[in-house]
Amino acid sequence: MRSLVSGGAGFIGSHLCDRLIARGDDVVCADNLVTGQFGNLKHLQSHPRFQFARVDVIEQLTLEGPFDRVFHLASPASPPGYLRKPLETALVNGVGTYHMLQLARDRAARFLLASTSEVYGDPLVHPQTENYWGNVNPNGERSCYDEGKRYAEALTMIFVRQFAVDARIVRIFNCYGPRSDPNDGRLVPNFVTQAITGQPLTVYGDGKQTRSLCYVSDLIEGLIRAMETSGTTGRVFNLGNPDERTVLDLAEVIREMAGSRSEIVFRPMISQDDPRRRCPDITRARAELGWSPMVGLSQGLAETIEWFRRQLETAAPRS
Ligand code: UDP
Repeated sequence: MRSLVSGGAGFIGSHLCDRLIARGDDVVCADNLVTGQFGNLKHLQSHPRFQFARVDVIEQLTLEGPFDRVFHLASPASPPGYLRKPLETALVNGVGTYHMLQLARDRAARFLLASTSEVYGDPLVHPQTENYWGNVNPNGERSCYDEGKRYAEALTMIFVRQFAVDARIVRIFNCYGPRSDPNDGRLVPNFVTQAITGQPLTVYGDGKQTRSLCYVSDLIEGLIRAMETSGTTGRVFNLGNPDERTVLDLAEVIREMAGSRSEIVFRPMISQDDPRRRCPDITRARAELGWSPMVGLSQGLAETIEWFRRQLETAAPRS
């Protein structure tokens, strides 16, 4: 099979490229490197079945040849990332999604949209099921991302209904693991880096807001199953780990696991509309995809902390 991964140089995208190469696909990664990093793909650079195309999917796509699978992951995804690039974020999810859907239609490829738990906004239903429509500020500063993804979902369903494109949508809940960008400002990269380097762990707000963290290998398995399971056309799946924790609890766990003596400090929220609670209901993914997360928080964090340590040591070797 020949698979296209937009956003393949990103954290999740690069793990997906690895997985597709491992199963024998020819893989084309399309990325404009706005937030992705070629370093995530260095090990695939000379692989005979891997090709990197530095393209911006907001522009008209000129990718040649047949495709069997189109995974559309391209978008800034961390709050500091999309707050820095709001227009690119809105457009890659709008115009970029349109181009990717057109390509899937043209090549009769299966399509998967990487959507987000952010479509639920600051949810009033808990845990979030796929049927919940969300509570989103349509023009707040996060709207470039959450409304962008909602629009991407709407476009995807138009292509399913009007053009019979074989597309599905997955809503990704906070994913973490090796290769997450140490500088993208998210909870895990920030807390792990701070804990390892002895800096204070910066909890935004009162730290009582919750998140549910899913380890990247579990998420990749969910993406593959959503794409490959028959009967998933037009279906929407939450993919996440329902192990819900407060942000303060996560700071304490990470500090302890890193063996750090950093203090925990409270800082003002960096963005408006930070969701108070977030936890996936994964009943549907369990039933229809036979999927559930296998990697617990302590195992996933141990792997992640180890990876961040190695990164920091490579960047600044100990004398
Ligand atoms: N957060 C925090 N300190 C940090 C980074 C994030 O307290 O250094 C909080 C953030 O305010 C949010 C949660 O952790 O409540 C998760 O933030 P993240 O940026 O990882 O992603 P989000 O779930 O908001 O998209």
